[in-house]
Amino acid sequence: MEADTAVSPTHHVRSWYGLSAEIVVEGSLWHLVRLGRLALYHPPLVNLVLRRGLPREERLRLSLLHEFGHLQTLPVAVFHLLWLVVYGRWRRPTKAQTGLTVLTAVVAHQATWELASESYVMAHTGPEYRRIYREHPNPLGHIVFWGGMALLATLLTRWILAKNKS
Ligand SMILES: [Zn+2]
Repeated sequence: MEADTAVSPTHHVRSWYGLSAEIVVEGSLWHLVRLGRLALYHPPLVNLVLRRGLPREERLRLSLLHEFGHLQTLPVAVFHLLWLVVYGRWRRPTKAQTGLTVLTAVVAHQATWELASESYVMAHTGPEYRRIYREHPNPLGHIVFWGGMALLATLLTRWILAKNKS
C-alpha cells in the first residue's frame, strides 16, 4: 500500500510573467502555493473530483501542474475579477444582498481560475493528459468538474453583471 501522507519536495517555479513561487503538493489533499511570505492553501476539490482513481505518481504530477497553472493563469483570474469589480452591480437593496454578491463574486472568480488552471494542465501535457484519462477513466469526475465549474463561472458572472431591471 502506498504511503499517502508523504510530502513531495518543494518545487521552486517561475511564471511566464516573472513571478516566482514555491509549490508543495502534500499527500493527495492539501496543496500549497507560497508567494514570498504569502501562503495560499488550495482546497482539495480538484483532487477529490478529477484525480480520483489515478495512480499516485500521475496524480501528484497533474496536481503539481495544476497548482503551477494557477500561477501561470493568475493574470486571467485578475482580469476576470477586475471585470466583475468594474462592471458588476454592487449596489444592492440591503447589506445582506451586497454581502451575497461579494460571496458570489468570490465563487465565480475561483471557478474561473479552476477552469483556467486545469486548461493549462491540458495544454501543457497534451496527448499525455488524454492517455492518462484513457487508461484511468473518470467520466463522472470530468462532468462534475468541467460542467460544475463552467456553470458556476458563467451563471454567477452573468448574475453579478446583470443590469437592474426594476
Ligand atoms: Zn485549482
